[in-house]
Amino acid sequence: MKYLSTRGGMDPAGYGEILLEGLAPDGGLVVPEELPRVDAETRESWRGLDYPSLATEVLSLFATDIPRDDLARMCRDAYAVSPDNFVEPAVVPLVPLSEVDARLSLVGLSEGPTLAFKDMAMQFLGQSLEYVLARSGRTINILGATSGDTGSAAEYALRGKQGIGVFMLSPQGRMSDFQRAQMYSLTDENIHNIAVAGVFDDCQHLIKQLSADLEFKRHHRLGTVNSINLGRISAQVVYYFWAWLRQTDALDADERSTARVSFTVPSGNFGNILSGHYAKQMGLPVHRLVLAANENNVLDEFFRTGVYAPRASAETYLTSSPSMDISKASNLERFIFDVLGRDPERLAAAWRELDETGTIDLAHEQPRFSEEFGIVSGSSTHSDRVETIREVHRATGRVIDPHTADGVKVARQHLDAEVPMLVLETAKPAKFPEIVIEAIGAADALPDHWAGMLDLPQRVTAMPNDEAQLRAYVEARAV
Ligand SMILES: *Cc1c(COP(=O)(O)O)cnc(C)c1O
Repeated sequence: MKYLSTRGGMDPAGYGEILLEGLAPDGGLVVPEELPRVDAETRESWRGLDYPSLATEVLSLFATDIPRDDLARMCRDAYAVSPDNFVEPAVVPLVPLSEVDARLSLVGLSEGPTLAFKDMAMQFLGQSLEYVLARSGRTINILGATSGDTGSAAEYALRGKQGIGVFMLSPQGRMSDFQRAQMYSLTDENIHNIAVAGVFDDCQHLIKQLSADLEFKRHHRLGTVNSINLGRISAQVVYYFWAWLRQTDALDADERSTARVSFTVPSGNFGNILSGHYAKQMGLPVHRLVLAANENNVLDEFFRTGVYAPRASAETYLTSSPSMDISKASNLERFIFDVLGRDPERLAAAWRELDETGTIDLAHEQPRFSEEFGIVSGSSTHSDRVETIREVHRATGRVIDPHTADGVKVARQHLDAEVPMLVLETAKPAKFPEIVIEAIGAADALPDHWAGMLDLPQRVTAMPNDEAQLRAYVEARAV
């Protein structure tokens, strides 16, 4: 399997090469040359596999330049069940919400070390990155900015890894107690937490400044593990297959071959749902992919109208489902590439239109979004989330997090008579106590393995919003 740029300006490259960089040299995004197909017979042969073994099967279709035994070892380590890794024996449990609606279930993607779905991909990326670097005798320094979930998932996946340094910037005083404790209590030598006196945008700006110095970037082999990383996208494909298999376990053999399910995906940068789109293109019988947005509904607008109109940061609301607060969706280019017949010239023309006019108008293609690709959308508000958390709790006794609540709310507007609807649970409610208290009057208890974390000593370097200081800091500590 080779990988290409959406904009046509990149020589075909193998998985091992593209893992280090999601952005193609021509400014496009890296995509598989062609998606692998999985027929019904192969799918059935995977039914008895546990999660790490299924991950090995699916990822071997993407990572064709990694020997299978090595891949199997990485998947076993990435998805190991232990108190400080995945705590749920199934790794990804399916939880019916039948008291809310007989067709509705949650797909539990938040059983990993940082209690959010980013662990699913990041754990595999940590393994594969270390492997690929060792194989080629290289090192990398990951530079990132985080306002919460992504940074902690990256740190837990990369802690103690050989040949990898992690420099994670966070806005001083703007994260929750839980988020701070989670990141700053790590003591691994290769993890560097930097609290910048500023807001998240300042952190991102500092990173852009350092990366724009190409000589500095090359010399210290700076890299990122952001949401456009194709290793992450490929690792997320696995749980769509897993969820379909578990949902159809109870059916007769002849029913299984035609059984369809729908998924609802709480969305931000379009990474998670892009993996679902790829699973469907690979032949998984997915009826609908429902994109759930919050008040920052730029993607909902795109799927309803066909017009993509990214917003300015100033028009981006701070909401109670903060991991979905986006102004543009960095992975959407990969979907638009498919809509435009995977034609790099048409894609490049669309991005020129975006540069010149601020929008991409695909209104004439919009009917195909649902008819051909199965994607529909909806959005929800703070009061919808509060009401949904309350209602699910009342009916089932289960507490869901605000992002998952966006999903459940929008999923219920897109139920079909006969098709099961699987809502991806993207985080645990213990991470968002405020809205949970507003909804049900009490916070959800932290899982056992996190109790005590809030009292651990914290290790973080405070820094002014100053490029020269950051540069000196990285220079002194890069691997
Ligand atoms: C990152 C994140 C999302 C959004 O996922 P995308 O892949 O960016 O669409 C949704 N919910 C939670 C809790 C997240 O951390």
